[in-house]
Amino acid sequence: MRQHFAVFGQPIAHSLSPYIHAEFGKQCGVELDYVAIEASPEDFASAVATFRAAGGRGANITLPHKQAAYALCKEVSEYAFHVGAVNTLMWQDDGWMGCNTDGVGLIVDLTERERLDLRGRRCLMLGAGGAARGVVPAMLEAGVAELIIVNRTAARADELVDAVGEPDRVKSRYWEDLAALGDFELIINATAAGHQTTVMDLPFSLLSPRCLAVDLSYGKAAIPFLSWAKAGNCDHAVDGLGMLVEQAAESFLRWHGVRPQTDGVYATLRAKQDALISAD
Ligand code: NDP
Repeated sequence: MRQHFAVFGQPIAHSLSPYIHAEFGKQCGVELDYVAIEASPEDFASAVATFRAAGGRGANITLPHKQAAYALCKEVSEYAFHVGAVNTLMWQDDGWMGCNTDGVGLIVDLTERERLDLRGRRCLMLGAGGAARGVVPAMLEAGVAELIIVNRTAARADELVDAVGEPDRVKSRYWEDLAALGDFELIINATAAGHQTTVMDLPFSLLSPRCLAVDLSYGKAAIPFLSWAKAGNCDHAVDGLGMLVEQAAESFLRWHGVRPQTDGVYATLRAKQDALISAD
């Protein structure tokens, strides 16, 4: 029987998730439909209720609803509880079970696809929004030595550091002090700055010779940060496309009990993205 899934967000029109899940379904022999549903923060809860009433079995949640989705759940995974944000809903008997696959998606992409070792790295996280919340615990589990979180609105970085509760290993600093923080072996851009016309003013002193620079966004939005990192001779620069595919595979696993192969979908999306960027 065909099962109904969706991704909720605003904006959502350009989401790649419907394509990714349709491909995973074909590959694994799962009959499904998966649609993108635009919902404002005011309408989000009622949009999810309408989707469920029409037979919805599961959903992905993206910007700006991850914390609102958490509040809709009757039960959440330990990881989602820790980060206070949900990107995957699963209908279970009489309510939504929520989990968060962003962190594991990032780590699988970096360690298995890119073959990078995160252990022992001094790390800087730029941003403290939903995506940063979703990936920080997974980075700690992956063995980063130290994590400094810097956010444009300093209070949000402080809140995230408090939520993590490892004061010796995870600290917040002010954006104005970036030039005084020394260099890093891993820098993650978890800001939404790349989607805007403003360019972040980052000092090259942040980049050590073995620095891995990761932008969680992908496509044109990742160009400014990754160009900065390459101009500063970082060792390796990665965008968020692989993370997107891997977090989708983790959601698929939770819904259907099988983890799809991701290399084919990733290669197709990478080729499409490269073609779009070079056509500009
Ligand atoms: P949020 O809206 O929750 O947070 C946005 C963050 O960006 C905040 O920390 C905000 O700071 C900061 N920010 C926004 N504009 C600027 C700017 N001009 N200069 C500096 N900081 C800025 O968004 P998310 O955390 O959900 O998403 C962040 C990014 O991660 C997006 O690009 C998104 O596409 C990407 N992402 C990728 C995923 C993937 O699978 N690859 C999954 C999830 C997200 P402040 O608090 O001051 O507003």
